[in-house]
Amino acid sequence: MCGIVAYIGPREAYPLILKGLKRLEYRGYDSSGVALLNDDLRVYKKKGKVAELEESLVGQDVHAHAGIGHTRWATHGEPSDRNAHPHSSASGRLAMIHNGIIENYAQLKNELIKKGYSFQSDTDTEVLLNFVEDIQKNNNCGLEEAVRIALRRVVGAYVIVLLDKDHPDTIIAARKGSPLVIGIGKGEHFLASDASPIIEYTKEVVYVNDYELAILKADELILKNLGNEKITPFIQKLDLELAAIEKGGFEHFMLKEIFEQPETIFDCLRGRLDAEKGIITMAGVENNIEKLRNADRMIIIACGTSWHAGLVAEYIFEELCRIPVEVEYASEFRYRNPVIHNGDVIIAISQSGETADTIVAIEKAKEQGAFIMGVVNVVGSSIARLSHAGAYTHAGPEIGVASTKAFTAQLAVLTMIALKIAKEKDTIDQTRYMHLLAELHTIPEKAREALKAADSIKKLASRYANDANALYLGRGYNFPVALEGALKLKEISYIHAEGYPAAEMKHGPIALVDETLPVIFVATRDSYHDKIVSNIQEIRARKGRVVAVISQDDEVIPKMAEDYMTVPETDELLAPMLSVIPLQLFAYYIGIAKGCDVDKPRNLAKSVTVE
Ligand code: GLU
Repeated sequence: MCGIVAYIGPREAYPLILKGLKRLEYRGYDSSGVALLNDDLRVYKKKGKVAELEESLVGQDVHAHAGIGHTRWATHGEPSDRNAHPHSSASGRLAMIHNGIIENYAQLKNELIKKGYSFQSDTDTEVLLNFVEDIQKNNNCGLEEAVRIALRRVVGAYVIVLLDKDHPDTIIAARKGSPLVIGIGKGEHFLASDASPIIEYTKEVVYVNDYELAILKADELILKNLGNEKITPFIQKLDLELAAIEKGGFEHFMLKEIFEQPETIFDCLRGRLDAEKGIITMAGVENNIEKLRNADRMIIIACGTSWHAGLVAEYIFEELCRIPVEVEYASEFRYRNPVIHNGDVIIAISQSGETADTIVAIEKAKEQGAFIMGVVNVVGSSIARLSHAGAYTHAGPEIGVASTKAFTAQLAVLTMIALKIAKEKDTIDQTRYMHLLAELHTIPEKAREALKAADSIKKLASRYANDANALYLGRGYNFPVALEGALKLKEISYIHAEGYPAAEMKHGPIALVDETLPVIFVATRDSYHDKIVSNIQEIRARKGRVVAVISQDDEVIPKMAEDYMTVPETDELLAPMLSVIPLQLFAYYIGIAKGCDVDKPRNLAKSVTVE
């Protein structure tokens, strides 16, 4: 959720940390701060963006060779200077940054208050820090041991990184449930929530696992478990280029990522889909084909945009594989008492692979014997590691907070998984199978074609920028696209938008329709086309303003709609990968017309690593 950067070595720590924090700002961004350690320990923090911290530090002493930095996404206490990280311990000896939530912080806080501690902030972080300091004092032990003892009491998810004034040559970090990467340089170490702040200095990284503690010195890295046993660090080579995480000439990451979709869908199909030979190669599916083809039921678990991809997948799996599918919000699934059978296959979908609710939901299903298949974008992420099998979406880093290219890549992967299972189960006839493979092969090119409408969508969008509400409607495979279109508009432009199955509109939302309400129909040509045309008539009869996403050669709807956006025709099962594109652009350009910060919409964070 938040961003963490730390450094120890011969370089100046502050400029390096600052640059890294800017790169991580997409993760959380309501305040930021740094702690710098030489002979003294200095903590600087500020509400607002990293640039505001930078400005406030002009003229300050920022010289140091060890430091920790943080961008916060508040969970405990409002965004403010006081609540920003790093926090200082009561004695001023320790400084700490934290990503995540300490669930039993209230209990720990009460214990500390009884001992005479008082607190400068409302955060759970400061409680944990003083809890560590208290252990350090009482046990007369080093920081490393105090952290280890403290973490045995902690309930929750965290990455914590600490500095100790008395040991300027050491940084201590630990993780449970939040991401943490260590970069290994020559006589220096880097530490961050993901590789983007590290990549320009080193390609050698170690991903820290849950319940591990890292002790970093300039020329030494020690990894231990909470039982104080040493662990051999597993060093991996990063194959990510920095250019891949920068804007590449586009005004915003979101626009860049929308325009990347022809390539990302292609990358996702590459090496897997051979449309001519009729072969799909996916090791994760092949190696577990018995489990998958014999699944009594599939439960798709996800949140947000990934949940919408899951809804499309429900239609696809049921149609092609004849396996009953349920699509669950991870946050609901994990807290109720779901019925899970041995033959259940869970498909967990997450861009970041770090979505807290999805992680816990799959852990729960795993405990009860379900087979877990992960569909994840970030390689090596927690969900990827927790799954029995999986398929990466290979969409590259998604920086814009509103998910775009991850969605279409998820659809491409899920479609291939379904096709593979259907072929094995013999629930699809050969002609349809070959047709779908051939069509899937054309999707990257058709996505490129759909993007050509960007300029006209930009003009059209400006006419809707002053509206307060919007209704999105679709049927069949395009129903989840209506939900996704509405979500994009909400996220990016703060216009209230609702998505509904088009027929369901008559059971409530139609009461909202008047001459001011834009109603966006996702109405590409499919087996529901006549039905959705009738729904358009119903809206027109009530003077609603109809905007439609339609197939290029549709001659019916243009006569009925106030505005329309076209996409190339494809099989209805694959249509969402195309019909969502104009809706992403529509939301983006409305956001821009309204002057919104589309890459960092208010109150949102990229990967939701808190529940
Ligand atoms: N729970 C901590 C806070 O509210 C950390 C939140 C974060 O991950 O940024 O300050």
